[in-house]
Amino acid sequence: MKLRFDDDVEAFRAELLAWLAINRPSAAEMAAEPSVSTGHAPAWARRWTRTMFDAGWLVPGWPPERGGRNAGPIESLVYIEELAKARVPRTTNVQGLGIVAPSIIDYGTDAQIRHYAMPILRGEATACLGMSEPNAGSDLAALTTRAVLEGDQWVINGQKVWTSGANYADFCFLFCRTDPHAPKHQGISIIIVPMDTPGVTVRPLPEIIHPDQPDLNEVFLTDVTVPAHHLVGELNNGWAMANGSLAHERAMVWVNAVMGLEESLATLLVEAPALLDRLTPIERTLAVDQIVQVAIDTQAARCLGYRGFAKFARGAGAPEQALMKLYASEARQRVALVAAEIQGADAVVAGGVANDGHHAVDEPQGTWLEQYFHSFANTISAGASEIQRNIIAERILGLPRK
Ligand SMILES: Cc1cc2nc3c(=O)[nH]c(=O)nc-3n(C[C@H](O)[C@H](O)[C@H](O)COP(=O)(O)OP(=O)(O)OC[C@H]3O[C@@H](n4cnc5c(N)ncnc54)[C@H](O)[C@@H]3O)c2cc1C
Repeated sequence: MKLRFDDDVEAFRAELLAWLAINRPSAAEMAAEPSVSTGHAPAWARRWTRTMFDAGWLVPGWPPERGGRNAGPIESLVYIEELAKARVPRTTNVQGLGIVAPSIIDYGTDAQIRHYAMPILRGEATACLGMSEPNAGSDLAALTTRAVLEGDQWVINGQKVWTSGANYADFCFLFCRTDPHAPKHQGISIIIVPMDTPGVTVRPLPEIIHPDQPDLNEVFLTDVTVPAHHLVGELNNGWAMANGSLAHERAMVWVNAVMGLEESLATLLVEAPALLDRLTPIERTLAVDQIVQVAIDTQAARCLGYRGFAKFARGAGAPEQALMKLYASEARQRVALVAAEIQGADAVVAGGVANDGHHAVDEPQGTWLEQYFHSFANTISAGASEIQRNIIAERILGLPRK
């Protein structure tokens, strides 16, 4: 077993670190404008996206004209790890960069790539992902937002929910039902809807942690009309495209989940002596045991992650992705809960955990209690834990569907 990266990968890492040292946005710059509630992505985030695009560090695996440098999967893993360690968010428009732009590049027309994908990559536009609805989340194929072609216009009516960043996005990558008579996994199409189209109403959902900085929204569409050429890819083929779109995100989701877990554990270990000091000897014994357990969980997640990634990099299917997503997101929840429990009642009023105010993987940090609340975002989004368990049961363990 080889337990180190090849020399060329280490050279890639060194080049990235040298570039980051000079070009990364400063903690002060990010802290000055952390919120997207002003109606657009923060100025530093737009500049940062453009800087990464120009230098070929935005999506290293892509060619230079798309903001990359044709890097391989191992280099891409190193890239995500180093950005996380440096606590530099890659983007504030996670869905736009991670799902919408790559999907338009995969399935869209040249004009759509020029008008919608490239501006996201250059930091000039942001996009939101309109998939989930009040009665279509885990069962996305149940979506009912309806698009009807009238002449050369789509007329759209319906509602989306949990739409991240809709309150500042320029356009929505909207999943609609275009054939209500087809079986539910068919008859779905994707349509690009500019957010300033009449009939689009965005209602931000206040969040328990930062009620003044909403990121999740409800989006209502009432007789919204957009040109027929806003259809992305083939008519009624949206389900297949959704699976392709989400595949763009999956590897990132679990690499980020492991990085976030490691970061939370590292913070807990720094704070542990002070936290333990305040406990009685019996409480301390129990707390040490819990900390050791989450440290073991973290190490297991890392090993499992490298194993899955090695298979992924060789082009083999990696069912570990579902395991990783489930294990790392729940382990991170346990780290936050262990820390908050050790703090006891103080967790409610204690100050923020040691960090520069910007989470490495595009999430806010804060007190351990805040981290615990926020950890549910990771155990729900991109496929809830129960869904991951179903996938593991059916596709890895070969258990029957029911
Ligand atoms: C932070 C965050 C950001 C998000 N951003 C976006 C976004 O930008 N765009 C977008 O479209 N959506 C977004 N979502 C929505 C997300 O995709 C859904 O929340 C997720 O798919 C779950 O759907 P739901 O909330 O409707 O829950 P439901 O599907 O109603 O599930 C409710 C509960 O039932 C369980 N359950 C459901 N079906 C089964 C089953 N078959 N077997 C066992 N248990 C089951 C679930 O695991 C869950 O615990 C986001 C969610 C979060 C938390």
